[in-house]
Amino acid sequence: MNATRWNRREVLGGVLAAGALSSAPFRRSLGQQQVTERSELLIRNGYVLTMDAAAGDIAGGDVHIRGGAIAAVGRGLSAPGAEIIDGTGMLVLPGFVETHWHIWTALLRSLAGDRQEHGYFPTSRTVGTFYSADDMYAAGRLAAAEAINAGVTFVHDWCHNVRGPDYAEAALRALAETGIRARFSYGSPTAASNDATIDLRDLRRLSERWRDHANGGLLTLGLAWRGAASAATMQDYELAKQLGLPISVHANNFESSAGGIQQLADRGLLAPGMQVIHAVWCTPEEIRALADNGVNVSVSPYSELRIGFGLPIVGKLVAAGVTVGLSVDTTTLSGNADMFAIMKAIQNIENGRAKNEFELTARRVLQLATIDGARSMGIGDRVGSLTPGKRADLLMMRTTDINMAPVGDPYYAIVFQGQPSNVDTVVVDGRVLVKGGKLAAVDLAKLVREATESARGISQRSAPT
Ligand SMILES: [Zn+2]
Repeated sequence: MNATRWNRREVLGGVLAAGALSSAPFRRSLGQQQVTERSELLIRNGYVLTMDAAAGDIAGGDVHIRGGAIAAVGRGLSAPGAEIIDGTGMLVLPGFVETHWHIWTALLRSLAGDRQEHGYFPTSRTVGTFYSADDMYAAGRLAAAEAINAGVTFVHDWCHNVRGPDYAEAALRALAETGIRARFSYGSPTAASNDATIDLRDLRRLSERWRDHANGGLLTLGLAWRGAASAATMQDYELAKQLGLPISVHANNFESSAGGIQQLADRGLLAPGMQVIHAVWCTPEEIRALADNGVNVSVSPYSELRIGFGLPIVGKLVAAGVTVGLSVDTTTLSGNADMFAIMKAIQNIENGRAKNEFELTARRVLQLATIDGARSMGIGDRVGSLTPGKRADLLMMRTTDINMAPVGDPYYAIVFQGQPSNVDTVVVDGRVLVKGGKLAAVDLAKLVREATESARGISQRSAPT
């Protein structure tokens, strides 16, 4: 794809370039307030889906949260002094675990067009080169706030537009300020040559000083790996291994990229805890290699469908024993960060392909969005289920909304009926980030204004002069 032939003005000539969506100039607000402080909480009388095999579901159940952790789950719990959250008419479940999202592309929504030269890849690769560090921050704020608002308590920020140390810092600051749990996977600048390594010195620096960025353990670091394309990308891989960082790679997404997982397997590059993204086109041997090597897969149905990668193969992967997590990938393609829609798509695709109403159950799909997603990110011992001792990441959703009622089986209700608008309360690490369906610590109008202003600035800078 020859980027110079791409007519940016044509793509970006809409409302953003015209400034129609932006208001008066704003003052960028770096270093915004930290999210709400933790308090002791007692969620009372909800329908609790623990997603913990031993604890099961608890009708009329309580969840006691103390010090950011789940202290107890059961009926009739006593917690004198705790703030009471009424769970009557609510489903209480672990927060959704999102497993791969190019968060910086959040500003490119509705910009992937209808023609080859305006497609997602040419658009993001070209426009991405005009990003500033402030734009990374604005994108991060927007995406993380949207995620939290929709009940997503963990995101994997697969950052393939680190154009300098300040870009990574800005993206990390956005994640930290919104209070979400996340892995930040450090990558190359977008459109970079595979003959150049990522900024290895900066990755080492971040890793060695991670305590300064970890936001009290909420944030972790990984490598957004470009695959075994060159000697340079192998240097990236080797440094991540040396630093003990988890590695994530896109593979077997296009039909034309089939065989990529086999090549990694043949070179001995698959390893436990590694994440492969998409894996749409896999031979039985490649699926076996993923399972045998303890490699996890991230599946993003809305980007895979929208861009024409093909149909995800969740059923085959889980049948082989591969741990699968669900993901947004990019809101440029998926539109929004709606884990309810993602779950529903996964179930419908599997049932449709199998011509079987019962191929993939709602309960199984909800496991993918919670505990399996957590396991796939290596944090299944910390989150993903409402288990005493784990960190308190959960959501509560109303059963009385017009699109929800009446609720029969709660699993069906979540997967078939649920939408982000039903999310009433979101807790991350014991902090209440959504209360009464509203983001508790975010000035939403300001955040949207800043994201729109950033997008407008990028479009102006990237338009040909
Ligand atoms: Zn991706």
